Amino acid sequence: MPTNEVPPRIAVIGAGISGLTCATELAERGHSMTVFDKARGPGGRMSTRRVPDLGVGDDFDHGAQYFTVRSPELTLRVERWTTDGVVAPWYARVIAICPDGIDESSRQTQRVVGTPGMNAICRRLAESLDTRFGVQVSAIEKNRDGWAVLDEAGDTLGTYEVVLCTAPAPQTEKLLRGIAPAIAERAATVRMQPCWSVLVAFTDPVRVDFDAAFVNSGPLSWVARTSAKPARETSPDRWVLHAGPRWSAEHLEDDADRVIEALLPAFFDAIGAPSSKPAWSKGHRWRYALAENPLDDGCLYDSSLGIGACGDWANGNRVEGAFLSGLRLAKEVEQALHR
Ligand SMILES: Cc1cc2nc3c(=O)[nH]c(=O)nc-3n(C[C@H](O)[C@H](O)[C@H](O)COP(=O)(O)OP(=O)(O)OC[C@H]3O[C@@H](n4cnc5c(N)ncnc54)[C@H](O)[C@@H]3O)c2cc1C
Repeated sequence: MPTNEVPPRIAVIGAGISGLTCATELAERGHSMTVFDKARGPGGRMSTRRVPDLGVGDDFDHGAQYFTVRSPELTLRVERWTTDGVVAPWYARVIAICPDGIDESSRQTQRVVGTPGMNAICRRLAESLDTRFGVQVSAIEKNRDGWAVLDEAGDTLGTYEVVLCTAPAPQTEKLLRGIAPAIAERAATVRMQPCWSVLVAFTDPVRVDFDAAFVNSGPLSWVARTSAKPARETSPDRWVLHAGPRWSAEHLEDDADRVIEALLPAFFDAIGAPSSKPAWSKGHRWRYALAENPLDDGCLYDSSLGIGACGDWANGNRVEGAFLSGLRLAKEVEQALHR
């Protein structure tokens, strides 16, 4: 961009991995970026929940558990983040608990986690950006100078030449329906599955010889000793239990305490350990956890409107898909602004 030009103002809705990747890429190219998120901090579905009352070890990765790295783009980034201390390999013993026994085949997968929590990457990315947390964007309206972004009270959060939405597909569809119908229609084709997550801490460690397990029967789909990940305090013994999409959908509106009552016995049943009373537990519902039928578009951008969308749901799912989707959207916006 020529130095005497005023950079276009760009709003990004969502401070998850896709939004922050997109925003940092564009900021590095000299664009004026503002990132809004309704949550209290960065991370989105890569958040880490802290429970100060628990004592020394007080963190739970209650959304994404780890990620895998296949693309050269993420490989390069992970090398940098490793040097910076915000990620580390997780050499875990991960098993699959099947109705007919234990399967060890997923043990070979190379897993990476944020350190000291899954949210570390997003926190690092957010450091260099203008971020506004605790702000829910409720509408985007055309005005004379561009797009006015409005909060829940209808107050303006500024006017921007470009607005990029990185919320899960149903929320993106709702925000863009009236202003970018083609993008909204694409987002509307994506079904997102819920996930009930139970966070639980035990004073006496649960007696099992693995760190995490895919669970292939009953209500659960995954259990992990979150305190066994690198750079975490090991005490108290902290576990994250994820219910499968079907069970989560059937119990979507259940009270969190009822969900804990159902999933704790299922946990002990699945791992074959004697049940014990947790020192602390909490249920967290992810209404939009994973896309059932993600797009392979990479990202969605209408350069004539200056409206775009990205996220895991637009690019094959999961952390790596979301990261690549954010990179791709930044590239498309950059190219369009220089045409
Ligand atoms: C329970 C669970 C387990 C998972 N396990 C794994 C795993 O092991 N490995 C893996 O690779 N992936 C996993 N995933 C998926 C992974 O977390 C996501 O693919 C990835 O984090 C998505 O990033 P994103 O930036 O696309 O979206 P998000 O992280 O969802 O970011 C979107 C952001 O937009 C914000 N937002 C939404 N609407 C508004 C609004 N109106 N105004 C302001 N802000 C708004 C939200 O608060 C959120 O922070 C898991 C997800 C869940 C929920």
